[in-house]
Amino acid sequence: MNLSTPLSEALSTKKEYIRALSDMGIHTVEDLLLYFPRAYEDLSEFKGLHEAKDGEVVTARGFLQGIKLIPTKNRKMKLVKAMFYDQAGYESEAVWFNQPHLLRTLPMDKEVVVSGKAKWSYGKLTLQGPVVEQSKAVQIHAGTTVPIYPQHDVITSKWLREKIHPLLYLTKDLEEVLPEEILESEGLMPKSLAVQEIHFPSSNEKMEAARDRLGYEELFLLQLKSLRAKKEWKDSRSGEDGGMPMDPEFVKQFFATLPFTPTNAQKIVIYEILKDMEKPYPMMRLLEGDVGSGKTVVAVMAALQAVKYGTQVAIMVPTEVLARQHLISITKFLEKYSDINVQLLIGALKTAEKNQVIDAVANGQVDIVVGTHALIQEGVSFAKLGLVIVDEQHRFGVKQREVLVKHGSPHVLNMTATPIPRTLALVAYGDHDLSVINELPPGRMPIETKIVPPEHRKAVYRFVEGRIAKGEQVYVICPLIDESDVLEVKSVKKEHKHLQTVFPNHVVGLLHGKMKSEEKDAVMTAFKNNEIQVLVSTSVIEVGVDVPNATIMLIEGAERFGLSQLHQFRGRVGRGKVQSYCFLYTDLAAEDTMARLKAMTDYTDGFRLAEIDLKLRGPGEVYGVRQSGMPDLKVANLMNGILLDRVRKAAEAFLA
Ligand code: ADP
Ligand code: MG
Repeated sequence: MNLSTPLSEALSTKKEYIRALSDMGIHTVEDLLLYFPRAYEDLSEFKGLHEAKDGEVVTARGFLQGIKLIPTKNRKMKLVKAMFYDQAGYESEAVWFNQPHLLRTLPMDKEVVVSGKAKWSYGKLTLQGPVVEQSKAVQIHAGTTVPIYPQHDVITSKWLREKIHPLLYLTKDLEEVLPEEILESEGLMPKSLAVQEIHFPSSNEKMEAARDRLGYEELFLLQLKSLRAKKEWKDSRSGEDGGMPMDPEFVKQFFATLPFTPTNAQKIVIYEILKDMEKPYPMMRLLEGDVGSGKTVVAVMAALQAVKYGTQVAIMVPTEVLARQHLISITKFLEKYSDINVQLLIGALKTAEKNQVIDAVANGQVDIVVGTHALIQEGVSFAKLGLVIVDEQHRFGVKQREVLVKHGSPHVLNMTATPIPRTLALVAYGDHDLSVINELPPGRMPIETKIVPPEHRKAVYRFVEGRIAKGEQVYVICPLIDESDVLEVKSVKKEHKHLQTVFPNHVVGLLHGKMKSEEKDAVMTAFKNNEIQVLVSTSVIEVGVDVPNATIMLIEGAERFGLSQLHQFRGRVGRGKVQSYCFLYTDLAAEDTMARLKAMTDYTDGFRLAEIDLKLRGPGEVYGVRQSGMPDLKVANLMNGILLDRVRKAAEAFLA
């Protein structure tokens, strides 16, 4: 047997187990060894039963006796009971629900280790559903730190422990991925040891070290991939085209036309972008800036620069509504530049009109074209595309990059309002350079944010009613009840009905992901025109809609969202001149939930909130990271910013 032996040969088990493993992407011995626990349960501390506290999980050595099936009134339920005596002879009763097979499989009258939840009642101790393992030199289920695996179908943690443990000796054959120098300089354990320790840790320290080591590898490979992609992009256009040298006077002239003074942060990122565009190879840059931080004007400056050098600019947004919005604001910023030709290109245009724009883009008459993502994909050709700006869109995948290359590898500026902490952005957008707008223009009125416990729900509705009476509008966000869209739609529809009874004098609209995009657009337009006062929505609302008259954001089941996502929702209000409010409804009064939500009332800075998310919930939960297309990390502990920076540096050095 070796690492590549198929599990159907390596394991003696039923077909259904092999099939379930296959579903999980686990086919060989190696796959199985590299299937890591998601957590551990510390069952290592032995106790005498008399010391057990009510409700705690207690681990004891002893023996079981007198196992039997107890008839219950409810025929469907099967109750198995046995007596358990610890080494001091202290008696307890062990009970299991719906596991009749235990009658056959539990070892009776033999020394066992038992871990179960202690329940005291009238001086008698019951162990609820305890794990039982025969006492051995090496325990794997009880009496040790027990790995908990992600389960699937028939594949349970217990099953995995039993199958993985005897195969651990093969870890010696696992290929060492990290270069020797890095293992040494970073003080990392060898892969084979790390894999053993991550499954069955010999101590907490070793477990942490194993995680660090495997997390390091994961990040290192990801960084290598990013850095390679970055290099490939840079090499995708030959240098002969020359860059676009920056002219400070030109920038100053543009600033002078603005109705405001750019913030320092805006000036800095403009500098970074224009410096990048000077280079003879194409830019791939991510511009991060909170909602309202003024990214549009930065984009317009970059566009001006590209146009100055005789190239065209494509500005792409996720929806046609947003495209129209953008066209208006961009045209306004360029009022003084009357010879620049800005056009809209979206599916909703009349065919003749559309064809006219397409022709004008192809023959170079159009300088800046605003549209949806389809813009560069659907047979639109450019005379000379110099810059692509993508607002609020997922990054370009490899496929889309091919499209960009076909267009001559223009400079690319991706803009996002989802603040991803810099360290994390290095992973999620490792093939991009990063610019961050970290301040808002002065004079913004902060949105007042309140956590609403159930008993204050009605009072808040009354308050909201009062604001609507003044002509303002409301968003209501419903949480994902379930991963499945069907349930989500159901819950939002129910809330929609309910709110019609709460606000009988107003129009309550509905928006969810299962609607066709024309339907969605129609609802949004009606909301924009204040034909709808209360808009009930699932999280589809989050991308860039701008309705300044909407001043209230109600979020149901707020505890189900990450802070950075709540922050995104909140950014939909506070866009006008009136005080805006965000109400977080939550039924859960758990302390840590409250502490987490309280961060929303304490901070308005999206980067800060994302940092907190990263600490509390991990990298995958930071809003915008999934959307970035970053693969799920199995072990990488990204919460440690220092580690991340170090991995990046090591990967750079290695590649060099
Ligand atoms: P976002 O980063 O969310 O795209 P926008 O570019 O839409 O933000 O800017 C939000 C608003 O702030 C716009 O009305 C814009 O004109 C205005 N704005 C941008 N920069 C400044 C500034 N430096 N001072 C004052 N207002 C600004
Ligand atoms: Mg914007």
